[in-house]
Amino acid sequence: MAPRSLTDYLYLSVGGTLSNAGVSGQAFRYGPQISNVLELEVVTGKGEIVICSKHQHADLFYSVLGGLGQFAIITKAKIRLHHVPPKVKWVRAYYSDFSAFTKDQEMLISQGRENSFDYIEGSVLVKGKDVNSWKMESHTLEDVNSNVTIESDAPVLYCLELTKAYFERESNLIGKKLNSLLERLHYLPSEVSIIDASYLGFLDRVHDKERDLRKSGLWYTLHPWLNLFISKSRIIEFDAWVFKQKLSGGINGPMLVYPLNRNKWDSRMSAVTPSEDIFYAVGLLGYASPRSAPTAESLMDQNSKILYFCRTKSIEYKQYLPHYVNQDEWRTHFDRLWPRFRERKLRSALVAPRNIKDNASLEMSLATILSCKTTQHIMMNHMISNVKCKIAKSLMVDIQEILDKPYSSECL
Ligand SMILES: Cc1cc2nc3c(=O)[nH]c(=O)nc-3n(C[C@H](O)[C@H](O)[C@H](O)COP(=O)(O)OP(=O)(O)OC[C@H]3O[C@@H](n4cnc5c(N)ncnc54)[C@H](O)[C@@H]3O)c2cc1C
Repeated sequence: MAPRSLTDYLYLSVGGTLSNAGVSGQAFRYGPQISNVLELEVVTGKGEIVICSKHQHADLFYSVLGGLGQFAIITKAKIRLHHVPPKVKWVRAYYSDFSAFTKDQEMLISQGRENSFDYIEGSVLVKGKDVNSWKMESHTLEDVNSNVTIESDAPVLYCLELTKAYFERESNLIGKKLNSLLERLHYLPSEVSIIDASYLGFLDRVHDKERDLRKSGLWYTLHPWLNLFISKSRIIEFDAWVFKQKLSGGINGPMLVYPLNRNKWDSRMSAVTPSEDIFYAVGLLGYASPRSAPTAESLMDQNSKILYFCRTKSIEYKQYLPHYVNQDEWRTHFDRLWPRFRERKLRSALVAPRNIKDNASLEMSLATILSCKTTQHIMMNHMISNVKCKIAKSLMVDIQEILDKPYSSECL
């Protein structure tokens, strides 16, 4: 059994992910992780333990899902699971034509399970030093790539990444099935790599990369990532300036681009998406380098320029894992759902950070939260120590950051 919808990287907390959305290559079919929650146990700002679901305390339930940690602390989550086969065929196919790449992706995400893949993502490849070597600054196993040589004059290439899960008893049929699915796609002739992997190995694919990054020290450098949801109707324009021009030299990390179906997102949840039926998840996941380019400042500057480009071209987008420093920006982010967010927050806000002005009030605030009988009870009895630390840490970080600088949640 496995959750139906996961993140690319598995070592994230359940509470942190459900406070955002949790997206990856299964979300086109099952929606983000927040669409797969049956029930939550939360601690409210009043220190009450509340079990909520779509049937009880529904407003709190939907507020908390994608609620940026503003409404309650998630202490338990009941999440939908499904049976999964033990193996996957893991495919990468390469494109030089962005339009062909996105058409194939959109066709695949519109199909049922039989006629499509179980995981669909895409990424941008930039040219390496050698003319014919393309750098896949990927978060996944390198050997999926190793048997492919690509020759192209295109400014960037695109990699469609897919998996098809199967049982041992289907081993004889899976090759045929895969071929019939791949026949419908328009990748560069002969540029496809296929490997066998265990389902678990595939799910845990980013872990190896994490070990490498830890060894090289890059895991610990600043990584000012920019995650966006972009309307389908404007993604070609986005590609033409952002991927083909601005970022064609790479960002020292993966650049993801893959479509999602909006009808898999419940509009009662706090998370917001663009309004079109299909939108693209774009992840610009660069790591600042302590010794050479790109620096954290240059990555942040690049991110600002990309956001400015979207705004000036009126490209409909939403930041995923948003960060804003004033209320107008938050209002724009939530758009017509802003009044609902504000009203929900007035009803069940977790903390009121605007009242915290200095270290003394920070300490008082923390003392109040931590002395709350229910919180103590939960910390003592319900939680493993790591979750306990996470909550304390996340409260400390939220509040401390407010003291240091204008912080997102201060103006929410
Ligand atoms: C290496 C890496 C890979 C990632 N990959 C993906 C991906 O593939 N897909 C994706 O969707 N996201 C991805 N993310 C983003 C991730 O979902 C968010 O950063 C999420 O907040 C991470 O959870 P955390 O445990 O690190 O949260 P923390 O950093 O501990 O918390 C983040 C915020 O969430 C809130 N929060 C945390 N715990 C709780 C709780 N129990 N109750 C209420 N609110 C809480 C608080 O507001 C807190 O400030 C990735 C992040 C990293 C660092």
